[in-house]
Amino acid sequence: MAEVRLDDITKSFGNLTVIPELNLTVPDGSFTVLVGPSGCGKSTLLRMIAGLETPSRGRVLIGGRNVTEEEPSRREISMVFQSYALFPHMTVAQNIDFGLRLQKMPKLEREERVARAARILALESYLDRKPSQLSGGQRQRVAIGRSIVRNPKVFLLDEPLSNLDAALRGQMRVELAQLHRSLGATMIYVTHDQVEAMTLADQIVVMKDGRIEQVGAPMDLYDRPATEFVAAFIGSPK
Ligand code: ADP
Ligand code: MG
Repeated sequence: MAEVRLDDITKSFGNLTVIPELNLTVPDGSFTVLVGPSGCGKSTLLRMIAGLETPSRGRVLIGGRNVTEEEPSRREISMVFQSYALFPHMTVAQNIDFGLRLQKMPKLEREERVARAARILALESYLDRKPSQLSGGQRQRVAIGRSIVRNPKVFLLDEPLSNLDAALRGQMRVELAQLHRSLGATMIYVTHDQVEAMTLADQIVVMKDGRIEQVGAPMDLYDRPATEFVAAFIGSPK
């Protein structure tokens, strides 16, 4: 397992600074939720942790190790996106196995890992189906399965439920909370949905314009919002 730390991170695209000097500690094993309006820099932050973007200044530490210069594949993280692109011609099992096969992991270990992920995600009876034969929620579980098999220390999830309907989102929220409990991994979860943030997080990070407005447990933010922006976002009573 691993703590994630962002140390004086600045990110600019050309002349545009989208994140100025940000510091954040995500505790080991926590379910940390990043919230904030569209365009405030949530995905950029996640992508820097994943190594898909390089910070203009500052350091990214995972488990105390400076990984700022490291390839994404060496960071022991795994990222789940909103658009879960599964391979349509492959079965569920083949989709989940795909990354392990690329790594040339021995077949027996691959099979064990796929079976474990399928058990955790209740996909055992769907392993031979194609993605087109699955519901939206099942497909999203397959996408999460592809992360689980890699045994990451840190899961990064960027609005993974936003393409699902409200009922399914509710169900997937419960499943994500169970997943976090059963894996014990550090989860960093981006959403613009307050309900998801309040129900899933043990730590909420509220962002605005690339800066952190407040960090705290859901009820702390609700009871003692530091700014009007946080109050409005979390829905605290006036
Ligand atoms: P969020 O995920 O909170 O909606 P993003 O991190 O996607 O926000 O974007 C933050 C800001 O950075 C936005 O203004 C966006 O236009 C800008 N941005 C993100 N990626 C790039 C890029 N590759 N090039 C230029 N600007 C970018
Ligand atoms: Mg985003």
